[in-house]
Amino acid sequence: MINGQCSMEKVDLIIIGAGPGGYRAAEYAAKQGLKVVIFEGSEVGGTCLNVGCIPTKTYVHSATFAEARERMASVVPQLRQGVETILSHPNITLVRENASFATTPLLLERLRVGESCSGMGLGEAPIIIATGSETKWLPIKGKEDPRVVDSTGLLNLETQPKRLAIIGAGVIGMEFASVFNRFGTEVTVIEYLKECLPALDSDIAKRLRKYLEKGGITFKMKTAVEDIADIDADVVLMATGRKPRVQADFANAGIEFDERKGVTVDDHFKTTVNGIFAIGDVNGKQMLAHAAEMQAIHVVNQIIGKPDNIRFDIMPAAIFTQPEAACVGPTEDQLKAEGLAYECRKSFWRANGKALAMGETEGMLKLFVSPEDGAILGCHAYGAHSADIVQEVSVLMCKHTTIAELADMVHIHPTLSEILKSAVE
Ligand SMILES: Cc1cc2nc3c(=O)[nH]c(=O)nc-3n(C[C@H](O)[C@H](O)[C@H](O)COP(=O)(O)OP(=O)(O)OC[C@H]3O[C@@H](n4cnc5c(N)ncnc54)[C@H](O)[C@@H]3O)c2cc1C
Repeated sequence: MINGQCSMEKVDLIIIGAGPGGYRAAEYAAKQGLKVVIFEGSEVGGTCLNVGCIPTKTYVHSATFAEARERMASVVPQLRQGVETILSHPNITLVRENASFATTPLLLERLRVGESCSGMGLGEAPIIIATGSETKWLPIKGKEDPRVVDSTGLLNLETQPKRLAIIGAGVIGMEFASVFNRFGTEVTVIEYLKECLPALDSDIAKRLRKYLEKGGITFKMKTAVEDIADIDADVVLMATGRKPRVQADFANAGIEFDERKGVTVDDHFKTTVNGIFAIGDVNGKQMLAHAAEMQAIHVVNQIIGKPDNIRFDIMPAAIFTQPEAACVGPTEDQLKAEGLAYECRKSFWRANGKALAMGETEGMLKLFVSPEDGAILGCHAYGAHSADIVQEVSVLMCKHTTIAELADMVHIHPTLSEILKSAVE
């Protein structure tokens, strides 16, 4: 249905949600010749494009709050238009409505999608649920205080706060702390745990936190907020994580889910109901835009019977503080806890010619390798463009490259990629 008109007779795939998971599934399936119907109850592009990755990275790459707002107002609609173009493929029907599962799975149409779409023959087609996630609000006393916002609320602020308190030193909290500190806002981060960014190697995380602290951010670690009234700030960002956006009506189709963990899926993103898949944040497995996209490809490949070798166990991730941090594979603490034999090779930005030339000398890389066969187990780093270096490691891991093989690979001089080469040498 486009503008109220159902236009498709035969449907091969139904997708709920047009974020990175949903729209990528639609684009890929349509190119493979499938007729796709995709439902989106809000703007296309999902969290990532509208209130997540893209607007936050526009903030990261702006010098002032005013510039960030101005750039966000042009970048986001431009990219959204790009997704609208993708979804205008002749094999795709975009339905601008929320979809829900009808009360009885015995109905021919499993989806309740509004009068205008009845009779579309949606009953037989596989379904991909890609409804994403939403802010997880902690039940802290005073959370209704008008000063309290989530990441979307912070991005919507029209005036720059003088003092910003951030509850939670996870990815979202740390990125906003770094950005607003640079804009000149007085930033305090309050975190219950001992260290920030729990997915990052604790050594790397600590160095990054100390560096940001020197840059002016106040960190109150091992501190639990009990009452918002105790916080002295103009704005309080609740950055205590995200939770999968599950709907009570999923149960109507017999889909198993948990409010906290999301829709239950197997390693191939199949739900407990045959023919229904759940990808992206809603399955709570790896809440990253690139994970959602690759899960989309994997599910469509299953539907069309095309084998693939996507390695979901090798999932690089980045944190866009300044400098940025990135990781792939286990942390040193995890390697120790699992009793795995490993060697840790380190290298530093301050010893790299390009980093010195750029004036970006803060940073450290840790490469974990197996002492038995030289296999690369993982890499954690912080420093300018560390995400690009970790991306290289992640490709090498997918190809089972050993460090001896890596040592034989030529790296351009002078580049930051030589930081990885130095770790091997
Ligand atoms: C502040 C912030 C910064 C982030 N930065 C990064 C980053 O730098 N890198 C990164 O990899 N990830 C980042 N993320 C995470 C990233 O945004 C998500 O992992 C990604 O958007 C998940 O994609 P998705 O398709 O699963 O869900 P979403 O992007 O959440 O999309 C789901 C879509 O489904 C729609 N929908 C929901 N229910 C229905 C329904 N019943 N019917 C129809 N439509 C429905 C929603 O309106 C939404 O458009 C960030 C997140 C936030 C909040």
